[in-house]
Amino acid sequence: MKEEKQCPQCGNTLSGRSDKRFCSNQCRAQAHNADRRQNSGEQLILSINAILRRNRTLLKQASPQGKTTTYRQVLEMAGFDFRHFTHTYRTKNGNTYQFCYDYGYLLLEEEKVLIVNWQPYMEK
Ligand SMILES: [Zn+2]
Repeated sequence: MKEEKQCPQCGNTLSGRSDKRFCSNQCRAQAHNADRRQNSGEQLILSINAILRRNRTLLKQASPQGKTTTYRQVLEMAGFDFRHFTHTYRTKNGNTYQFCYDYGYLLLEEEKVLIVNWQPYMEK
């Protein structure tokens, strides 16, 4: 029985040249575009992961243990990106901490920032 190859884009049976991968230029172009979309999504994930990792490192450096208060500008000058964090923790008082993995911060008045460590009780 002759093995029939199929177009990976549309499933049509391929005819003609055996080295052809797609049934048509249109299918080849569609597959190419899908690859590019996929890659740009992966790139976005990688770049955000890098930002989150840097944010965490900067919080750790600014506050190796316990609570530390610093200024927003100090963190920003060091390269901190306040747009990105991994999760939030809302206290009973209604304060919302933003976390980058196991280090978090609370934005205070006058552009101050309180840096904290993740605590087990924050799990709930
Ligand atoms: Zn096709």
